[in-house]
Formats: sequence, C-alpha cells, structure tokens
Amino acid sequence: MAKLTEEQKRQRAAKRALRSALEAETDDRRRRERDERWKREGTHLSWADYMAGEPCRGCGEPMYDGLGDWYPLMKLSELEKREYEEANQRYRERHADCRDARWSVSGSRVTHCCFCCPPPPMGPKQMEKLARLFSSWPSREESKKDLDTWDLTLRCDHVVPHIQHRERSHVSTRVVDCPECGERRGVVSSDRVGPAYRDDGTIRERSAADRERLARELAAAEAKLTRQQKSAAATQRRVAELQDELGSES
Ligand SMILES: [Zn+2]
Ligand SMILES: [Zn+2]
Ligand SMILES: [Zn+2]
Repeated sequence: MAKLTEEQKRQRAAKRALRSALEAETDDRRRRERDERWKREGTHLSWADYMAGEPCRGCGEPMYDGLGDWYPLMKLSELEKREYEEANQRYRERHADCRDARWSVSGSRVTHCCFCCPPPPMGPKQMEKLARLFSSWPSREESKKDLDTWDLTLRCDHVVPHIQHRERSHVSTRVVDCPECGERRGVVSSDRVGPAYRDDGTIRERSAADRERLARELAAAEAKLTRQQKSAAATQRRVAELQDELGSES
C-alpha cells in the first residue's frame, strides 16, 4: 500500500474528528430526549420509593436483590458461573442498542443500564457526604487563578471558549451549545489559550485572543476553500475527459 502523504493523513484525521463529533451530537440528543422523558414520566425513584423496594422504572428489574456482589469469576461455583453467564446474556439482549455502561447497587447482582435506568437515588448519608465535599472546595473566586480558557472548534467551524481547571490536559466535553448556530454542536478540536482570569480576578480581555482566533479561523477557512477549489478543478477535468471520451466514441 502506498504511504500516505502528510496532507492525506491530516485529511483522514479531520474526517475522523468530524465523524466522532457527529456521533457525539447524536448521543447528546438521545440522552437529552431521554432525560426529558424521565422527567415527564417520573422515572426517577425517590429515596422513599427505593427504600420501599420499588423496582427500577427504567428496566423493571429490582434495584437491590440482596444476593451480594458478584465475586471475581474465578471464585464462583459452577452453578454461579452459569447464572452469571445467563444474566449477562439476558442483559446483552435487552440492551443491545444502548451503547452505554452498566451500574448496580452495592450488595446486589442485578445489572442496570446507564442509558435505560436512572441512577439510584441518593440517601441522606450520601447527601451529607456530598455537601461536606462541596464545602471543602475552593470558592469560585479562589479557583479563578487555576482556570484556563480553551478554544473549542465545533463541527460547524465556529469556535467557542471553554473554561476549565488548569490541571486538566484535555477537554473531555464532547458537545456544547453553539451561540452562532443556536444548536448543540460536537467538538472537533480544542486548543488551550491560557489563563482565563487576570490576577485581579477579572476575565481576561478576549480581544487579542479573539483576533488571533479569528485569524486562525480565517486561515483554516481559506485552506478549506483552496482544497475545495482544487477538488472542483479536478472534477471539472474529469468531466471534460469523460465528455471527450464520449464524443470520440459516437
Ligand atoms: Zn434498571
Ligand atoms: Zn439499556
Ligand atoms: Zn455553530
């Protein structure tokens, strides 16, 4: 197979990134629709429902079966291994198209689907723990000095700013609101710009960064246009060749 040129590699990577951004948009839409439906139909169990032993309103299975966690497979008896395999098989059949992870309540063997089943409700103890955790976090003012701005290029070619903690080495957000399009859009690429706030806590003037960004966008758009023009010219040549061929045959 001929080796790919740098340009071909770049094009392939761009195509892959676009495809993955579109997939992320589809998943995002699907999740949001599901969340709406859950809200409408009251699919989430309250803590009281859960404690009363109500089954999962997503899949109908019990939330908690009291059978204890699955031990590592090696430690299961032959019968348990078979049960495990059968449960696994049933699960896979029911959730073949869910494209999502699984969850189960500790001490229980029933497996629930992250797409079909709302997560179990939080108990008072868990809430307390969470509240303590939140209060131990630095305030928004304090954390400003640790925040960086990133530029996210979306699949509509718009670029939007995104702020996150400096320690994070990449942006894991895959879909964001595009203010230009007024739609949720998949992220194709992300570039770290730098500190989001000045030392005095005010948001860093974006004008210089914005100008740079616009220049980058312009360069990218121009490069795209050149590629499209080249490809159009090639198609035109091909059309002419075919016309010639057709003409010489008749
Ligand atoms: Zn369930
Ligand atoms: Zn499912
Ligand atoms: Zn857009």
